[in-house]
Amino acid sequence: MRFASLGSGSAGNCMVIEQTNTRLLLDCGFALREVVARLERLSLAPEQITGILVTHEHDDHAKGAFKLAAKYNIPIWLSHGTRLMTERYLPENVALQINVIDSHTTFVIEHIQVTPYPVPHDAREPTQFTFTDGQYKLGVLTDAGSSTPHIEQVLSACDALVLECNHDLHMLKNGPYTHALKQRVGGRFGHLDNISAANLLAKLDNSKLKHILAAHLSAKNNTQVLAKQALSSVLNCEPDWVGIAEQANGFDWRCF
Ligand SMILES: [Zn+2]
Ligand SMILES: [Zn+2]
Repeated sequence: MRFASLGSGSAGNCMVIEQTNTRLLLDCGFALREVVARLERLSLAPEQITGILVTHEHDDHAKGAFKLAAKYNIPIWLSHGTRLMTERYLPENVALQINVIDSHTTFVIEHIQVTPYPVPHDAREPTQFTFTDGQYKLGVLTDAGSSTPHIEQVLSACDALVLECNHDLHMLKNGPYTHALKQRVGGRFGHLDNISAANLLAKLDNSKLKHILAAHLSAKNNTQVLAKQALSSVLNCEPDWVGIAEQANGFDWRCF
């Protein structure tokens, strides 16, 4: 199994998880042409994508998913709430293959077993996911305002983690956002800050961890150095062992 990011942050998110010839996109928050160009950087064509999972309805996750699905006839998986809230994205005159999932029930897409889990975020029914090929487990968590015991249980004993480090608390407090936006981002249904992500990481069984990447970094309220510091201090590793899912380039293939 291997995985990569096409880009991560408030301007668009998309990951790809691959096992043999099964390739799943996790979110697609880029315009059609952009996502095709970003797939090409990873030597992938849209025709090679098996399915698209959408975590929630926010533009930076859902914007391009339905156009891509329609153009290349790719099935979509999402929660009931996300399905309702993404109605506006559905193209006319195209019958999309949409699979509505239960946000607590594991399902299988060809070679990859997918486990959804609900998270506190200001969306209708946001779900995040773990992926396994039976041997290795990848956990992804972005767009969660706070952790829960269930999140900690689901993300324990992963071989790879992609973990939101959205903002630094001091930078958010003193930064350019309006008061209302600061409240939203920093709230329990907003986004994980570096220290909250580190505190969550500290509660997990990390004995199998081979890859860790910080994701969904705010361009205005965080730095890569601060995110790396926060996560590496928990793992007692070099800061540079912590990868970054960048907005412009995501990250290159990581393999097990
Ligand atoms: Zn987001
Ligand atoms: Zn969101």
